[in-house]
Amino acid sequence: MSRWILRGLKKGIITSRFPKNEPETISPWSTLPVYMKNSYKGCPTDAIHNNEVDLRRCISCGRCSSSFSPSLNVNNSIILRSERYLKKSLKIYVLDAGSCGACNTELHALSNPFYDMNRLGIFFVNTPKQADALFVIGVLSEQMKRVVKEAYDIMAEPKLVFAMGACPASGNILGSSLSGILDADVIIGGCPPDPFVILNAIMNARGDVS
Ligand code: SF4
Ligand code: SF4
Repeated sequence: MSRWILRGLKKGIITSRFPKNEPETISPWSTLPVYMKNSYKGCPTDAIHNNEVDLRRCISCGRCSSSFSPSLNVNNSIILRSERYLKKSLKIYVLDAGSCGACNTELHALSNPFYDMNRLGIFFVNTPKQADALFVIGVLSEQMKRVVKEAYDIMAEPKLVFAMGACPASGNILGSSLSGILDADVIIGGCPPDPFVILNAIMNARGDVS
């Protein structure tokens, strides 16, 4: 935060110019495998098949890379369905179904002056009744499966479902994934995803980028 304040005092503007410009920062944990050994057999989440990384399973642990370094791929998401009606304003309801707290932190960061998601017409709301998009984070316990379904059912059409992070995308080793409860329209890879990855996924899903 102090870095942003100093930068703001110096330059007058602290907000990122993304998506117009490339992301200026990268979270140290926003890592993707940069090089995979053919012989590597130790992925803890079984995310590597034919030297391809399954974004739904990868927890960005870095064990598959011999020269591992943080690398940001803003396209670390899978868009299965988009909704152009939501282009001007997207209201997001976040449902924490059992996260470790890191995905929440990245979502919170979207509201700070650096990422400033409001400038892109993206807002958080406190009830699924007002939401256009349901963000599910965390692994799903039996009790939370019912809650997720109920939240989805009371949302008005058109609506989108985002499975954010490896937890809802794959169950993250031990838990339950979102599949079987709801069909995700967007799967955001990462554990947790970088805020720029989240912003990019949202803009793609509502058709900002054709
Ligand atoms: S979880 Fe991801 S980073 Fe870790 S070994 Fe598997 S593919 Fe590589
Ligand atoms: S995807 Fe990773 S960072 Fe996000 S809640 Fe699950 S364990 Fe935590």
